[in-house]
Amino acid sequence: MTTVQHDKTPFIASDSPPEPHHGAMPDTRGINYYLADAHLRFLLRRRLTNEERVQAEPLLMALGARVGDEIEDLAAEADRHTPTLQQRDKRGERVDEVHPSRAYRALERILYGEYGLHAMSLRPGVVDETKTSSLVLNDALIYLAAQSESGLFCPLSMTRAMARTLLKFAPADIVADYVPRLIATDLNRLWTGAMFMTEKQGGSDLGMIETTARLSSAHAGWWELNGEKWFCSNAGADLILTLARPENAGPGTRGLGLYLVPRTLPDGTRNAFQIERLKEKMGMRSFASGEVTFSGTLAREISGPGSGWLHMTEMLNITRLGCANAAVALARRSFLEALVHARGREAFGAILADLPLMREQLLDMQMDVEALTALFFEGSAQLDAADHGSAQARLLARILTPLAKFFISEEARRVVAEGMEVRGGNAYIEDWPNARLLRDVQVQALWEGTGNISALDVGRAILREDAGVALIADLRARLQAVRDAAVSLAAEIGMAALADLERAIGLLKASQRQEAELMTKRLTRQMARVVCAVLLIEDAEIQAREDGNYRCLVQVARYLRRYITPPATGMALELDRLPLDVFDGLIDWTPSLSKETAIPLLRSIAGDR
Ligand SMILES: Cc1cc2nc3c(=O)[nH]c(=O)nc-3n(C[C@H](O)[C@H](O)[C@H](O)COP(=O)(O)OP(=O)(O)OC[C@H]3O[C@@H](n4cnc5c(N)ncnc54)[C@H](O)[C@@H]3O)c2cc1C
Repeated sequence: MTTVQHDKTPFIASDSPPEPHHGAMPDTRGINYYLADAHLRFLLRRRLTNEERVQAEPLLMALGARVGDEIEDLAAEADRHTPTLQQRDKRGERVDEVHPSRAYRALERILYGEYGLHAMSLRPGVVDETKTSSLVLNDALIYLAAQSESGLFCPLSMTRAMARTLLKFAPADIVADYVPRLIATDLNRLWTGAMFMTEKQGGSDLGMIETTARLSSAHAGWWELNGEKWFCSNAGADLILTLARPENAGPGTRGLGLYLVPRTLPDGTRNAFQIERLKEKMGMRSFASGEVTFSGTLAREISGPGSGWLHMTEMLNITRLGCANAAVALARRSFLEALVHARGREAFGAILADLPLMREQLLDMQMDVEALTALFFEGSAQLDAADHGSAQARLLARILTPLAKFFISEEARRVVAEGMEVRGGNAYIEDWPNARLLRDVQVQALWEGTGNISALDVGRAILREDAGVALIADLRARLQAVRDAAVSLAAEIGMAALADLERAIGLLKASQRQEAELMTKRLTRQMARVVCAVLLIEDAEIQAREDGNYRCLVQVARYLRRYITPPATGMALELDRLPLDVFDGLIDWTPSLSKETAIPLLRSIAGDR
């Protein structure tokens, strides 16, 4: 189980809710996204040591103040002015250079240069002179910034993941040559990373990769790669990790080696590969994704067949969580836009946010965002603990990573679309951020493993590594630790849901292969909902103990009713009054809610089981 740090220090930042911009067409300009996010602040109190949180608070505050204004403006500009490809220079020589927009360069200066978001969890000297930052803090800062610019976090996430992968698996000389570049915050020294795996014939089944690797006879210690890569994000990267099949290696992923391709060779010359064209993308338009041909391209071997693919999956662990982070950030932004809009606009003689159906819509969005955020940070905390040597955390991260990637990408699409509806017609117009958010969120369920592929991976984690049983044991221990009498009512419902899940896992294990595959997506979805519920119950326990406030218990009661035990009638009548009675308490976290608000709903759920 993760060590949960509690402290009684009051929030340094004010707990006050965001000040909406009144007027006919409100937006989030001028709002500090960190201050506006009581749930994020609650989670960080829970997950960071007191020392790290106090040290990080000014950074979170400063970034939060820039997301909705300066970063939003740059993100919108970078979305409009997409990168261009220059294949030849004026003398006709191949240069294959990607030119990002001015706005994208400015975003790089802020997010890599000023905040060091690619480096802070890998080396001291970014936030703290003597220590690396926790992955949770690093991810929290990314979560904030990605609410406006999620595109840049594809290259940034690959840069961070590549440095981590090289530190784990590369020979010492390669680490010494390249890692300092990947974790530099001086943009003149920084080299960004990319991973080119997908080929024309398939991205899910990477065992079909045809790119070949041959030891170079002309360059000792180097390999020559030949083949075509069909999807290459951060196409102008300085360093590329790629998969290729050495001559005489076997088929499938076992026959793949992992190679590092520098754009510039040690003698200063350009490595031989061509960027054929840049893709015209639906979203994530600020950075370049292209098609690349390797032809006699020089590469260093990181790992040969047998371990190449395994080591690549280590990189995917962190980039997949990165997808989940970007997706939940986009959902959070969409909710914030919706809330500010609904509180600032009128219809039928009332403020929109006072109308019953709108209240329910906003509360449901907030509930989903809080559940997804809790799930994401659980994954991040477990990966961090795994990196610090915990075998238990490693097993939990093994299943939580594809689970979070799958569930958050899927749910975030729905929440972002819902936010569009709250804004109304303007949301469909490119002057407003909603259309960009909607375009950007779609890809999170496609790249780095589609929904089916992620669910199948959860299935493998259950069947091959027994990670499902480990996850259930961990969740059960959390519920058993609940002491508050009112929260115990929710914990009992959680326990029953865990027992159901355990039976479903048993069924999966007993099934034939095809039946088991058929079950994995449904099971993954249900498992994700139960993980979210348990995390929200833990939140409720912490909040009740610390402040005597049962706001989180009311929230989890709604969650349990909506997703874990829907009412037999299908109408959830008990839910209907809560948006009318306790809307502000739930939305703003500030007025204390009593346990009596949650108890009838919890009793009714328990009665329906
Ligand atoms: C904008 C963008 C940028 C990208 N950048 C990169 C990059 O930098 N590097 C990189 O390597 N790749 C990149 N990709 C590629 C991406 O990872 C792949 O598109 C993705 O993994 C899916 O592969 P595919 O497109 O070949 O689809 P396919 O593998 O052909 O899959 C098609 C469909 O079949 C389903 N499917 C496949 N196998 C199964 C199965 N066993 N059971 C059930 N359903 C199955 C999939 O879920 C999917 O719905 C990028 C993609 C996009 C859109």
